[in-house]
Amino acid sequence: MEVKKKDIRALTKEQLRKFFEDNGDKAFRGNQVYEWLWGKAAHSFETMTNLSKPTREMLEAHFVINHIKVDQMQRSSDGTIKNAVQLHDGLIVESVLIPTPTRTTACVSSQVGCSLDCKFCATARLKRMRNLNPDEIYDQVVAIDNESRLYQNRPLSNIVFMGMGEPLMNYNNVIKAITMITSPEGLGMSPKRITVSTSGVPKIIKKMADDDVKFNLAVSLHSAIDEVRTSIMPFNTKFPLADLRASLEYWYAKTQKKITYEYVVWKGINDRKEDIDALIRFCSYVPCKVNLIEYNPIDDGMFQQASDTAVQQYIKGLEARGIVVNVRRSRGKDIDAACGQLANKS
Ligand code: SAH
Repeated sequence: MEVKKKDIRALTKEQLRKFFEDNGDKAFRGNQVYEWLWGKAAHSFETMTNLSKPTREMLEAHFVINHIKVDQMQRSSDGTIKNAVQLHDGLIVESVLIPTPTRTTACVSSQVGCSLDCKFCATARLKRMRNLNPDEIYDQVVAIDNESRLYQNRPLSNIVFMGMGEPLMNYNNVIKAITMITSPEGLGMSPKRITVSTSGVPKIIKKMADDDVKFNLAVSLHSAIDEVRTSIMPFNTKFPLADLRASLEYWYAKTQKKITYEYVVWKGINDRKEDIDALIRFCSYVPCKVNLIEYNPIDDGMFQQASDTAVQQYIKGLEARGIVVNVRRSRGKDIDAACGQLANKS
């Protein structure tokens, strides 16, 4: 019977060092292999040219490197690139490269499908199939960094966890991936250039604050009124706004880091004066800014982007209270790469 080989990137550096010691070699080999696996993102043992052939064969006999494969790459007319990424078990997730004149942002997935049930999001319809492993998240970043160097002539500058899935429902693996992305042994990126976006899981937001994480937090709010929020994000019954608020106050007290609220304004759902007033009140609890995201339709016509007048009223109301508001126009809509459109369509 064939023994199932272990994914070598599930091992820590210490475990790799021990593996070599246990096999009669020097622990130092573990460091060399670790450098290949993360710093150089090697896809095979063959490429590890500073190891002897017998050493490479021994690794081959014990382990696999479960790297991702960019199965299909689509380029939008606005320069956005969407990768359909195949995982070792054949499942597919999507990640997006978003260029602006000054930066390249990678939007990465954290789960195959999603465990939450936001009515306006295409990914929610896929349900959650499984969590991504740390190396699968890391590889998406490496792939986009390579594409950025190729097509933008510059390395990747920012990462947002706004692809498929709810990152806080896969917290441990997301943290391990970010640890490697920010480590000098990995990609050495600054955590200040990383944003984790969540629908709002209060318990985990508090845990992140306790863990003293250095990346940014964005919360997909969409309504500051419980009944409205529950109607579009049903899990809000489990994690109501009062609990979310308490966790965000805790986050700010511990980290002193401003929160970004993501917010779409929909016709007939959250475009009334009371919706604006509720958001302004919610924004008074913790230092924050608001990103108003343009709605990207997902074929069923249930939701419609609110009128410009309604959006302007939001901007006026928030700015009058000194709250910073950005309007985020969609990128990559023509290839279904915009927020909420990732659903493995092709
Ligand atoms: N689960 C995480 C990250 C993925 S969604 C979260 O909820 O934050 C990334 C962002 O896209 C979220 O702010 C989400 O609310 C928003 N979004 C989802 N569907 C959308 C759509 N159809 N149009 C515009 N934004 C959408």
